Amino acid sequence: MAAAPQPPTILSFEDARHVVEGHARDVRPGGTESVSLLASRGRVLAQEVAADRDFPPFRRAMRDGYAVRAADLAHLPATLKVVGEIKAGASVEDLPLEIAPGQAAGIMTGAPAPNGADAVVMIEYTMLQGDRVAITKGVASGDNIVPVGSEAHKGQMLMQPGTHMDYAGIGLAASVGLESLMVYRRPKVAILSTGDEIVELGAQPGPHQIRNSNSYSLAAQVAAAGGEPNILSIARDERSHLRALIEQGLQSDLLLLSGGVSMGKYDLVEQVLAELAAEFFFTGAQIQPGRPVVFGRARDRYFFGLPGNPISTMVTFELFAKAMLDALAGTAPRPLQFLHARVKTELTVKTGLRRFLPGFLSGEFENVEVKLAGWHGSGDMAAMGRSNCYIVIPEDRPKFAAGEWVAVMMR
Ligand code: AMP
Ligand code: MG
Repeated sequence: MAAAPQPPTILSFEDARHVVEGHARDVRPGGTESVSLLASRGRVLAQEVAADRDFPPFRRAMRDGYAVRAADLAHLPATLKVVGEIKAGASVEDLPLEIAPGQAAGIMTGAPAPNGADAVVMIEYTMLQGDRVAITKGVASGDNIVPVGSEAHKGQMLMQPGTHMDYAGIGLAASVGLESLMVYRRPKVAILSTGDEIVELGAQPGPHQIRNSNSYSLAAQVAAAGGEPNILSIARDERSHLRALIEQGLQSDLLLLSGGVSMGKYDLVEQVLAELAAEFFFTGAQIQPGRPVVFGRARDRYFFGLPGNPISTMVTFELFAKAMLDALAGTAPRPLQFLHARVKTELTVKTGLRRFLPGFLSGEFENVEVKLAGWHGSGDMAAMGRSNCYIVIPEDRPKFAAGEWVAVMMR
């Protein structure tokens, strides 16, 4: 069956990104599963997490010092009688203390404030003399005591389904006593490299052959983004072989193809997808590297046709495919984040495309600077080894002078 020719749809970078985000909004994650607390790192929460009690559960001292009545410190220095000491872990019920006017109790960070006391004076402003303490600095009522429930009330929602679990989320879940969590199932992502010149890792490549690196860089990107990669066999540049593997890949939650989307006679990916009645949402974006990137849907599954040049493959995954993966994993696409740094040396580029060039960012604080990793085009893997970020150049800026600010996307 001859496929109907598809009119090419080349979008600006922003438009292409918005198209992916638009589809991502309508995507629902698969099932859920329970995992241990630490295994939830990098996963997406599928349950609500609520406070199981008030936070803090008692009036918590924030400093080491003396629990006092603030009114007793109206005239300084003040001398108060020390009637006890309260360690962290002392139980509120067992506290023998009720701080009366003129009295104070030694108290440690994290200990419950005794009744009667309404502030804690830091130890730095006190001097113990026998059973009395001289205080040289006043406090306002409430100083250095965290009120019961001021951080969260019992039953209050702390995390919603869809939260991307990182170390802070894990700490929060631990603080309410959760040893396991319901998370969304990882999306299964089929990875299909194409090309007659591509050989598997175990094989010794002939002089005319190239090792399959894209399947592995993509698998690493998929895993880092929270998906479950499944590397398929390499597809030859031949319709029926390619078609069989694409059909296999379309059984996963998402299909990522590498190669075969340019204008060459044997770039068959779009043709074969068209035979499978695919819809194409775009067939190119005004970017470099990665201009021929394709996004579409076939058999109710989304796919990306990523250009085969290794840096193009990596960049287009980060810019487009990752957003869809987030959605399939149960969370809103994480926004692309650009920081800014000064260019170390003058930088000149051709205008007309948004560029994501391998760069090297160094320094810290006010001295962050970035330079081009010096690449020989989008197939230059060695340049990636010298880089740690992408320098992002707008389509209308032919030149950046040394010291000018430029956008950087970290990897
Ligand atoms: P294509 O997009 O198929 O025209 O391929 C563009 C360039 O990327 C060619 O030089 C390919 O050899 C190279 N390439 C394609 N697929 C891979 C792959 N899986 N691993 C490494 N290089 C690849
Ligand atoms: Mg090819």
